[in-house]
Amino acid sequence: MSATPSPGRVGDVRRQNLALVLAGIQRNGGATRAQLAAESGLTKASVSSIVADLLESGLVRETYVTRDGERGRPGTGLVLNPARGALAVEINVDYLAVGVLDFAGELTFHETLERHNRGSKPADILPLLVAMAQRAATEAIAAGVELLGGELTVPGLVDTERNVVVAAPNLGWADVELSEELPKILPDAPFGVSLANEAKSAALAELWFGQGADHGTSERFRDFLYISGEVGVGGGLVIESRLFAGPQGHAGEIGHVVVHPDGPLCACGGHGCLETFAGQDAIYSAAGIDPDSTSQQMDQLLSRVAEGDERAVSAVEQAGRYLGIAVASTARVANISAVVLGGHFAVLEEWIAPALRRSLNRHAPGLIPQGNVAFSGLGQTGTLRGAAATSVRRILSRAYELIP
Ligand SMILES: [Zn+2]
Repeated sequence: MSATPSPGRVGDVRRQNLALVLAGIQRNGGATRAQLAAESGLTKASVSSIVADLLESGLVRETYVTRDGERGRPGTGLVLNPARGALAVEINVDYLAVGVLDFAGELTFHETLERHNRGSKPADILPLLVAMAQRAATEAIAAGVELLGGELTVPGLVDTERNVVVAAPNLGWADVELSEELPKILPDAPFGVSLANEAKSAALAELWFGQGADHGTSERFRDFLYISGEVGVGGGLVIESRLFAGPQGHAGEIGHVVVHPDGPLCACGGHGCLETFAGQDAIYSAAGIDPDSTSQQMDQLLSRVAEGDERAVSAVEQAGRYLGIAVASTARVANISAVVLGGHFAVLEEWIAPALRRSLNRHAPGLIPQGNVAFSGLGQTGTLRGAAATSVRRILSRAYELIP
């Protein structure tokens, strides 16, 4: 790295070294300057200089740590600063939600507003979201957390470069541009608000906070398909611990894998997609519960399956059977052998899991071991955590912007 100095080149090297040190702190919270130097291959002097910049930026802070072999003498370690955070805002078909994740990875605020958003225009929904985001930001400030950026998730295909919701059929949105609306969600945040797909955020949450982060399962869940069960069925493909997005960012859309050639018309315009059998409304209809009634359909469904109501049980089992068909095919195409199910699939685990396993055994025998079929434990917060954590990573990747 001893080339002719030029401002651009020096800038690049400094950025790279900064990224190395920051990644070390992110991976190993509490690492000392000496450990960061050993890990990164940088000199202790460079690490100290970079750490000084990072402390000044507010992205990291010092903490007193006791290391093995130091006879209890406390040293000074570095952690991401929990007084910084990111916001996540979620639009779904039957609710809006907002959450705050601090840099320590704690979800410090979470609010959900049940609302039927099908057919709602962006102009109806966005003021509600902005108000929810303001409440979250106020709570964060009161708790001493400064929000530096955020992410908005929608149940549909997005173009993150142009801030366009390309298609969210269950909302009735097509080619909706949000470039002017996104900054209103978090007006003072230096890194702004980006757009993301709901299921892909939830897949990342599973990787970072769920099965992929659990010591017992993390080895098995480095490569997996995440399936999100909402009104729509979405998905995210994680390969080698990274989201595989595909050329336009739309890979993993398992909800629109065809499972029946003569199946019903889907919101996407096709016929016989998995969503038409395993989406929330499809299960309610098959169970004899009106999907458009305002009462708590999931509670009704749960009590009916618990009572052994034949129609309700067979609706849920049918969803499990078709899930198995779609997973069997996808697993072969993508060469994966693990799957995580979230949303209503996780809520219905007790009844859906046996049907799904039977279906997998029938359509892909031996391909997906029983322990590799997991149900998310993150509940309603998965998407918010994944979205906010993506925002945190984006902020850290642009840390140099906060350094004079
Ligand atoms: Zn479809």
